[in-house]
Amino acid sequence: MKYIGAHVSAAGGVEQSPLNANEIGATAFALFTKNQRQWVVPPLSDSSIEKFTANCQKFGYTAKQILPHDSYLINLGSPDREGLERARNAFNDEMKRCQMLGLDRLNFHPGAHLNKISVQECIKLIAESINIALLHTSGVTAVIENTAGQGSNLGYRFEHLASIIELVDDKARIGVCIDTCHAFAGGYDLSSTDGFERTFADFDRVIGFNYLKGMHLNDAKKGLASRVDRHEQLGEGTLGYELFRLIMQDNRFNGMPLILETPDESRWKEEIAKLKEWAGQPIFSSAQS
Ligand SMILES: [Zn+2]
Ligand SMILES: [Zn+2]
Repeated sequence: MKYIGAHVSAAGGVEQSPLNANEIGATAFALFTKNQRQWVVPPLSDSSIEKFTANCQKFGYTAKQILPHDSYLINLGSPDREGLERARNAFNDEMKRCQMLGLDRLNFHPGAHLNKISVQECIKLIAESINIALLHTSGVTAVIENTAGQGSNLGYRFEHLASIIELVDDKARIGVCIDTCHAFAGGYDLSSTDGFERTFADFDRVIGFNYLKGMHLNDAKKGLASRVDRHEQLGEGTLGYELFRLIMQDNRFNGMPLILETPDESRWKEEIAKLKEWAGQPIFSSAQS
């Protein structure tokens, strides 16, 4: 079974997100559990948690269909002591919020060395940050996303992600999410069938499919190895439709949230329908069927 959806709005409270997902025919969704532009926010209220759980139940969304994303402000590999402390506190808080919502994974970007420390040092800091968060929470897997490698961001090579995983103590609670746009921008040629096969053989060898906990399905605005993070609607960028058809027909991507982060949200419903069609799944069903 393919779980297909998009990163929907949680404006008005996290409990709104399953409603927004259901409206576009999604069988999976992503959300921010807090305002992603603020460091500190009030804790989730009991009422908000109850409503979120009830709405997920009503529309048939279970934890394995939901991929929360953390705040873009967080740099778990920050070379600056104070910055690192702040990032770690915020990340621990985000992991706790997921735990309180009954969610089992949190998607985040590894971090950036800001040209002040080496790649290796940055990787060590990131792994340490993850270890701390895993110690303070239970039941939530930390899901590292591959990046486009813009600026000094790590994680655009599968080897970076593998090195981080290697240093994480609890291997049962570490995973990865592959963003197709980021992979292409980071140098993995997903624009042909051959390239798709090669990239995911490489992925399996370096990281392993057992660590894959979700996918971000985005076409790319810029070319191969551009290191520029600009998403495009499916089929309208430099990747093209074929990649997404291949993913939909490949069992290795079953049973995990497959999330659109394409720029025009008014087209998500149509994109989800297209993906469901390629996966051979009913288009007009909600998550419960
Ligand atoms: Zn992301
Ligand atoms: Zn992404």
